[in-house]
Amino acid sequence: MRSLASIAVAIGTILPFCSAKSLSDIIYRDVAVIGGGASGAYAAVRIRDDFHKSIALIEKQDILGGMVDTYIDKKTGKTFDYGVQGFLNVSGATDFFARFNISIGSGSASPSLITEYIDFRTGEKVEFQPPSSAKQIAAISKFLKVIEPWESMLFPGYWNFPEPSDIPEDFLIPFGKFLTKYGLEDGAPIIYSSTGLGVGNMSEVATMFALQSFGWDMARALTGQMGLFTPTLGGNQALYNAVAKDLGDNVLYSSTVVNSHRTEKGVTLTVRNHKTKKDTVVHARRLLVAIEPTHENVKPLDLSSFESKTLSKFTYSNEYAGLVDNKVFNSSYYYFNLPSSAAPDNTLVYQEDPMVASFQYTGLNDLFRVMVIGNTTTTADEAKVLSQDSFNALLKAGRLSGSNENQELSWATFATHGAMHARVTVEQVKEGFFQDLYKLQGARSTWWTGGAFAANFQTQLWKFDEGLIPKILRGL
Ligand SMILES: Cc1cc2nc3c(=O)[nH]c(=O)nc-3n(C[C@H](O)[C@H](O)[C@H](O)COP(=O)(O)OP(=O)(O)OC[C@H]3O[C@@H](n4cnc5c(N)ncnc54)[C@H](O)[C@@H]3O)c2cc1C
Repeated sequence: MRSLASIAVAIGTILPFCSAKSLSDIIYRDVAVIGGGASGAYAAVRIRDDFHKSIALIEKQDILGGMVDTYIDKKTGKTFDYGVQGFLNVSGATDFFARFNISIGSGSASPSLITEYIDFRTGEKVEFQPPSSAKQIAAISKFLKVIEPWESMLFPGYWNFPEPSDIPEDFLIPFGKFLTKYGLEDGAPIIYSSTGLGVGNMSEVATMFALQSFGWDMARALTGQMGLFTPTLGGNQALYNAVAKDLGDNVLYSSTVVNSHRTEKGVTLTVRNHKTKKDTVVHARRLLVAIEPTHENVKPLDLSSFESKTLSKFTYSNEYAGLVDNKVFNSSYYYFNLPSSAAPDNTLVYQEDPMVASFQYTGLNDLFRVMVIGNTTTTADEAKVLSQDSFNALLKAGRLSGSNENQELSWATFATHGAMHARVTVEQVKEGFFQDLYKLQGARSTWWTGGAFAANFQTQLWKFDEGLIPKILRGL
C-alpha cells in the first residue's frame, strides 16, 4: 500500500497550479521533527533509517546537537566539551554510536583541580569543608535506595506519573528538606556540583524537579553502577556530525517554523530559513516537537487554548556556558560559587539564580569553562554581564593573580543553552498538571519529546524516544 506521504507527493505535482509556491518549496513527509538536539536528532535517525519513514528535521542552528558544545583548538585540533560532558550508559545508548562507527571511551581525563569555594558576589573565600568523597558516595548509595521505588513515576517520562492523590509526599517537599529527612546531607555537594545546580538553588526546588536534574542514573553512575562515556575522537559533537551526514538534505538548517496548521489528519508547517529567507512548506502526517515548549518556541504552532494554557505554566532556568581565556586565573583551580553561609560545613545552602556557578580550568591552554545558571528571564547578554561581575569580584578581592583593576573577560566561545529544567509549582502538580501535559501527546497529530516531557539527559531522552516512536508511527 502506498503511504499517504507518497500519495501527497503525487498530489503535489498538481499543486503549483493552485499555489504561489514553486514545487521545490513544498515537501511531503511522514514525520516532521522540530529541533535537532538530543531528542530530535535521535528520533529522526531511528524513524528514517530503522522504521523507513520519511522525515524532515527542522533545526534553528546550522549544525545538529543542541547543547553539545565541542570547542576545537585551532592550532592543535584538540577538543574540549564545554556543554555536555558525557553520555550515561543507559541501555541501548552505545548502539547509537556503533551504527556511525564512532568509538567510545570512558571520557577524557580532566585535570585534577583544587576546588576554591568563593562567594562570587563578594569575591570572599568561603571556608567550606565538604564531606570526604567516601562519605559523599556513601550518601548517594543511600539516596538511591530511598528513591528507587519511585523511578517509573518520572522515567522515562511522565507516562506513569501518579494521580494527584497518589503523588508521594516527598516529591513535593523542598529538596533540602528531603535530604535532611533521610539523613542524606553528605550527598548534597556532589549532587549539586554534578548536575543539580541546573535548577539553581536546588535545596528550595520541589524534590521531584531536583530528581529530574540528577536522579537515578546519575546516582548509579556516581556509585559505579552505570558507566559514562564519550567519543574517543572529535568530542561529543562527533556524534551529531555523523547524524547530520546520515540525514543529509532531510535537515532544514538555520530554520524555524513560522506558521502552522495542525489537525488530526496531519500538519502543514511553513518553515523559514533565516539566512536565505526562503520558505519551505512541509506537509507531514505526524509532527514531533523536540524543543523546549517555551512561549517563543511554540508561538508559531497554532496552539489550542488547552495546549497554550498547559504549556504556559512551565517556568525554566536559562543556561549558558562558555570558555574564557584570561591568564589571571590559576590553572590548578576550580573556582566554585557558594554563599558565605555554607561555611564551615553547611551542605544545603546555595546561591540564588541568576548566578555564575563556576570558572573551571579545562586543561586546554589558558581556557576556563564558565557555567551560568539564569532564571526564567536571563538573557545571553545578561549572562555575560553576570560573568564579568563575578570576575571583577574575584579580581577586586585578590583571588586572581592580576591587578585588582577591572579587566575584560576574554570569551573564546559562548553558547546559549537557553531554557531548560522546565518545572511548575507544587500546587500545579497537585492539580494534575502532568496528566494534562500528557494529554497533548498525539493530539492534532503532534507528539512531544525533550527535556520538558522527559528527563534532562541525552541518553535518557533517547530511551524516552524509544517508547514514543511506536506511538508516533501507529497507523502510518
Ligand atoms: C551545560 C550543560 C551540560 C550538560 N551536560 C550533560 C551531560 O554531560 N550528559 C547529559 O546526558 N546531558 C547533559 N546536559 C543535558 C542535555 O544536554 C539535555 O538534557 C539535552 O540536550 C536536552 O535535549 P533536547 O532534545 O530536549 O534539547 P536540545 O539538545 O537542546 O535540542 C534542541 C534543539 O532544537 C533547536 N531549536 C531550539 N529552538 C528551535 C526552534 N524554535 N526551531 C527549530 N529548532 C530549534 C536547538 O538549536 C537544538 O539543536 C547538559 C546540559 C547543559 C546545559
